[in-house]
Amino acid sequence: MQGYDCRGCGQHHDELPFSYWAPAPAYWDEFATDEHSVLGEEHCIIGGEQFFIRGRLVIPVIDAGSVPGASPEFDWGVWVSLSERNYERTTELWTTPGRESEPPYFGWLCTELPLYEPSTLGLKTQVHTQSVGERPTIDLEPGDHPLAVEQRTGITVARVQEIAERFTHP
Ligand SMILES: [Zn+2]
Repeated sequence: MQGYDCRGCGQHHDELPFSYWAPAPAYWDEFATDEHSVLGEEHCIIGGEQFFIRGRLVIPVIDAGSVPGASPEFDWGVWVSLSERNYERTTELWTTPGRESEPPYFGWLCTELPLYEPSTLGLKTQVHTQSVGERPTIDLEPGDHPLAVEQRTGITVARVQEIAERFTHP
């Protein structure tokens, strides 16, 4: 990408981001000093009883092929909550070759993505384990939520730019 002329601030930005990520699940800040809560790069436990994993909610960029340098995938780095059983399972299998053959796990989306109405918190997802070293991919369950629609039908590079403009200049 050759960057873009930003409608948010009127400047030219050198790079158009195709991914963003949330450093922690929603509500983490309220538990940051709690002794039963822990936050890592890929895992999080809140209050000793809620279990989260970081994943990639990938949206296809349908016209990436006609825009030089554009990525064919846009990705929201999000957190989902898993059942304790599935959380333990992902932890057990963390370095196990072949773990990508796991069936998908159910997860609640626990990241509030900006730009979407209604809120993305609490959307139902399927969590697909990837090979060792790769983050799981998160597929929203079918529905009418704008984020689910975007994941199903894809977005354009123009939309990626709009996300950047609104994200950087709220
Ligand atoms: Zn700007």
